[in-house]
Amino acid sequence: MVVPTTGSPTAPGFRPIRRRKVKAMDGVNARELFSAQRSLTYDDLILLPGYIDFGVEDVDLPSRLTREISLATPLCSSPMDTVTESEMAIALALLGGIGFVHYNNSIEEQARLVRRVKRFENGFITDPITLGPDRTIADIDAIRARYGFSGIPITDTGDLGGRLVGIVTNRDIDFEKDRSLSVSSVMTTDLVTAPQGIELREANRILRDSKKGKLPIVDGQGRLVALVSRTDLKKNRDFPDSSKDSSKRLLAGAALSTRPEDRERLDALVEAGVDVVVVDSAQGNSSYQVEMLKHIKSAHPDLQVIAGNVVTKRQCATLIDAGADGIRVGMGPGSICTTQETMAVGRGQAAAVYHCALHCKEQGVPVLADGGIRDIGHIVKALSLGASTVMMGLMFAGTAEAPGEYFYQNGVRLKRYRGMASIEAMESGGGKRYFAEQEKIKVAQGVSGMVVDKGSVRNLVPYLKQGLRHALQDIGVRSIPALHESLASGDLTFELRTISAQREGGVHDMYSYEKPALGARDTQ
Ligand code: GDP
Ligand code: GDP
Ligand code: 5GP
Repeated sequence: MVVPTTGSPTAPGFRPIRRRKVKAMDGVNARELFSAQRSLTYDDLILLPGYIDFGVEDVDLPSRLTREISLATPLCSSPMDTVTESEMAIALALLGGIGFVHYNNSIEEQARLVRRVKRFENGFITDPITLGPDRTIADIDAIRARYGFSGIPITDTGDLGGRLVGIVTNRDIDFEKDRSLSVSSVMTTDLVTAPQGIELREANRILRDSKKGKLPIVDGQGRLVALVSRTDLKKNRDFPDSSKDSSKRLLAGAALSTRPEDRERLDALVEAGVDVVVVDSAQGNSSYQVEMLKHIKSAHPDLQVIAGNVVTKRQCATLIDAGADGIRVGMGPGSICTTQETMAVGRGQAAAVYHCALHCKEQGVPVLADGGIRDIGHIVKALSLGASTVMMGLMFAGTAEAPGEYFYQNGVRLKRYRGMASIEAMESGGGKRYFAEQEKIKVAQGVSGMVVDKGSVRNLVPYLKQGLRHALQDIGVRSIPALHESLASGDLTFELRTISAQREGGVHDMYSYEKPALGARDTQ
């Protein structure tokens, strides 16, 4: 590494300063750190700083979620009923991450939530909702209530593939008092359309130039084949990092259990357009999960599957052999979780991530570090130990996009957050990852409680990303793959933190202070 002194390198007397290769390295590399097989947690260790020769804006955050899916933002939300439904999944996908819709609901409800994510943004809408000319404005109201949009192409048959005769948009019906009027009496018939086979880029240009809200795509006989929406151009402009499939639809994740009846759930999720599923079990190394993985891979070979949860290399090996495209690591680190105390089984999350990631790297399978993340530093540590993405429940609980209503207690604005194996969640069907159906006595492995209002993930995620960039800069790497290279080569060094080091590293000896809320700082 050559660092120029001030002055031009061509000036007489210029001598570059050489960064000396220091033989006696400080700290230890990860192999040494974990050689004693201690159950280390994130708080037990600290990363030593590297060399900065680039700006914070030069740090890139793309990373792999599974063998086939990469994300611009390495953040996922947990499949928990107080964390991820469609609102969270949409917001996270727009910001470059991904949400996993929980399955503490009926198959229809979970599929509906996934469908909402997939419908939120599109390139070509290849299955637009259509109506026939005899339908009424009230039918359009019903579509708006169900799907959130009201730009409806009208075809002679009422179906996609029928001849396009008009379009009804909000502006046609906004002020109409009589909702029983037929759509043919209010629809716009002077249409700008584009021919089937047109490239999206060209369709977008026509849409922009026409200043219309919708561009119907028609075949040679004037039959409707697709629709392009102006709002999608805006969404694409406003969220350039969003996680999308090849049809420009947002990526949607969903969870399911290992139970045989969830094969039906799987089919409904695939039908709804899910991109990746998590097979959710507390101890993933089981014949049930192996069976489910094999079934998924044979029934839906193109679907990406994350398996877990695991904490050892041997567990990873079983699941990778059965077809896993990603491995979810964590047993007991969750904020709402009592597994390690109750079951005496699990592993410190830092050790779990490191050992699993070491094995998974050889197989080309990314690791998702799940649970135990309270702050940006924990995300940095998870990634530094080999995880490619992190999954968080606590971090996203209490945001505006998390399910549930806010309420006040002692003047503080709160939302509920509960473990899926808490008594409360189990009572509403949430214990599927922990128990067999017929078990009469269920031992809780989680708690139920509340967290403070964290504002919107639209502020939180950019804040987390900027923090991550700063951290990677301090470490001296420009990207997550570079961080992983540094981990593998042993350049990345760590130290164990004593109890007093942990105390020193937190705020101390203040008479009083206010902890700033995550994400709410200067973005609002
Ligand atoms: P490429 O990688 O250069 O092909 O760029 P993209 O795949 O990002 O985008 C291709 C074209 O599609 C560009 O004109 C984008 O503006 C447009 N585009 C990207 N996302 C969307 C979307 O969600 N909806 C629509 N209608 N257009 C989009
Ligand atoms: P509208 O003007 O009321 O139709 O709504 P917007 O144009 O504001 O939003 C429509 C959004 O819904 C876009 O992001 C579309 O991609 C999405 N969308 C998904 N499926 C459909 C559909 O079948 N019809 C329409 N109109 N929009 C759809
Ligand atoms: P957090 O981000 O809150 O620390 O952890 C969230 C993770 O905890 C979830 O992704 C899931 O893996 C795990 N989890 C969710 N509910 C429970 C529970 O009731 N018990 C246990 N042991 N883990 C849970």
